[in-house]
Amino acid sequence: MFDQVQQSRGVYKGQWGSKTFAFKGLLKCGGEFTAQEKIKKLKSGEFKRHVYYNCNHEVDPKCNEPYINQDNLRILLLEFIEKNYKKIEISDKLLAKIEKHYSITQSLLAHYKLEQKLDKPFIEYSRYILTKGNENEMTNFAKGIKTTLSMNNGNIRMHHNR
Ligand SMILES: [Zn+2]
Repeated sequence: MFDQVQQSRGVYKGQWGSKTFAFKGLLKCGGEFTAQEKIKKLKSGEFKRHVYYNCNHEVDPKCNEPYINQDNLRILLLEFIEKNYKKIEISDKLLAKIEKHYSITQSLLAHYKLEQKLDKPFIEYSRYILTKGNENEMTNFAKGIKTTLSMNNGNIRMHHNR
């Protein structure tokens, strides 16, 4: 479905050689969602990495859940967390990061005497990671989410075992 990048040709030796996929393992459809990358050379000579997630078709060869690119997935995930944060189980490690981020944000607001009501700590942290986080931060964030999520017709849902 996607072009495979020929890294062996030597030109591309980017920071992405390890091929980490931040949200791999977080999503299921009927089967498993897997990930792939496509690296495009820009006119400037720089490389841009595009990551896609899609069904691996091992459980259901006819599954027609559409693929989703990582940028859109970040937006969807944030919307999902904003609505469902109470039902999502997270690791202690992620909780500690969330609390630290919240306390730093609050202290900045207080220091500059800004009266800004914050969202719930989990939402504030998710917004930060899903809009500004790097690949590594997003990977750790996704690892800390213990609840399995489903992709269903392009929407994220809570996963229920059938
Ligand atoms: Zn599927």
